[in-house]
Amino acid sequence: MHELSIAKNIIQLAREHLTAEEEVRLRTIKVNVGTFSTIVPAQLVFGFEAAREDTPLRQAELDITMIPLRIKCYSCGEETEIDPVDFICPSCSSPNIEIIAGNELTITDLEISDS
Ligand SMILES: [Zn+2]
Repeated sequence: MHELSIAKNIIQLAREHLTAEEEVRLRTIKVNVGTFSTIVPAQLVFGFEAAREDTPLRQAELDITMIPLRIKCYSCGEETEIDPVDFICPSCSSPNIEIIAGNELTITDLEISDS
């Protein structure tokens, strides 16, 4: 389960942006996860809940937004969302495509409570 090490990375990255006082007030870590990444969201939440226990971020929750797979076609220039099982340009059926979104994992926001 590589989600545990990914969860540890998320926590480490978040902590680099927080003061010690902010760490204990951190409520939510928002992340974007590409649908084409190898990450299983439920496993990531499970890994996060295990990884946070030894940190000041014990009360923080992980909020995952799934990002659709988006491609740019080299043949016709179309930029569009596709289903990963197809993996061709829906406009011209070319397999000559580049992934421009959908395989990422990024932290988008850290929500800290007031009290
Ligand atoms: Zn095309």
